[in-house]
Amino acid sequence: MEIAIISDIHANAEALNAVLSEIDKRNISNIICLGDIVGYGPEPEECISIIRERNIPSILGNHDKAAIDYEIREEFSELARTAILWTEQQLSENSKNFLTNLPMTVDVYGQTFVHASPLMPENFRYIFSYADALPAFSSFYTPLCFIGHTHRPAMYCEDMTTREVEKGKKFIINIGSVGQPRDGDWRACFCLFDTEKFISRFVRLEYAVEETRKKILHAGLPQKLGDRLLVGI
Ligand code: ZN
Repeated sequence: MEIAIISDIHANAEALNAVLSEIDKRNISNIICLGDIVGYGPEPEECISIIRERNIPSILGNHDKAAIDYEIREEFSELARTAILWTEQQLSENSKNFLTNLPMTVDVYGQTFVHASPLMPENFRYIFSYADALPAFSSFYTPLCFIGHTHRPAMYCEDMTTREVEKGKKFIINIGSVGQPRDGDWRACFCLFDTEKFISRFVRLEYAVEETRKKILHAGLPQKLGDRLLVGI
């Protein structure tokens, strides 16, 4: 069975809809979302509605939390804070309740799913390197741990020997970002995992990025948030 893993949508409905259409085209019905549905982008309420309508199990991201929790905003950059204040105004009470009830981690399909590092998930630590990844391997008990948060696709093996998933070893797989990639490639990123063949692969997909940029400008959000999407930073 193949499952699709999406993360860091960041209120980019153009990217989310393109990715979900592609997943539908591949006849994949099991989808899981690793969080940050909102923040930065122009359509937070719309993106939550899409995720809820399709009953996609979702995990709490730091931006989702910031939309309903003032304290965590203090750790945000000015740009992120500006966007989250705007986001809070856009969200219905119903959507805020939905965010409030999202879990920090989910164990399904025999694997672990979390937004940031599985090491104390509520701290939302970043994994940018093996130095960050290695201490986190002892904090999950499944072969694979799928994460998001950095917006950069990456793969870490516990013994640092390989970049391909294989049985008998533990891996942390960063699945990249649907709505705001930061690896220099503007295209939406997500991950497919075949539970039987034990193969994991990244998919990149073009979407109407200029539309999202226009919506950001019309919403009165900082122009930089639209410009960065064009270059994937
Ligand atoms: Zn994010």
